Amino acid sequence: MTFATCLNCIDGRVQLPAINWITENYNVKYVDMITKAGMDGFLAAENSDIHEILKNVEVSISGHGSKNIFVVGHYDCAANPVDDLTHKNQINTAVKQIKNLFPDLNVIGLWITENFVVENISEK
Ligand SMILES: [Zn+2]
Repeated sequence: MTFATCLNCIDGRVQLPAINWITENYNVKYVDMITKAGMDGFLAAENSDIHEILKNVEVSISGHGSKNIFVVGHYDCAANPVDDLTHKNQINTAVKQIKNLFPDLNVIGLWITENFVVENISEK
């Protein structure tokens, strides 16, 4: 039993695409999903209090042995209505930030398109 950790939006349209892509492309069976409306923008913003999110990540790592943390942004995000390029910049910023906090883990940024295609846009 292997687990990955996913920091995703609350949007119901992007849960299964993220889970399916991660389990198909990484050697994991389960995805611990940590959600926040507009997660990519929230993580990228300098003034966000991400303490609660990090507590959840720690449980996934220490309790489930996760070695891969995914940061997801998606098209048509109601909580973070910025253009696609801004989303991707936010995802990259969030990936760097999470990698700094968890340097021993693999951190991957995912973008989910309007057709719910999942794209790996950064990996650290
Ligand atoms: Zn969203």
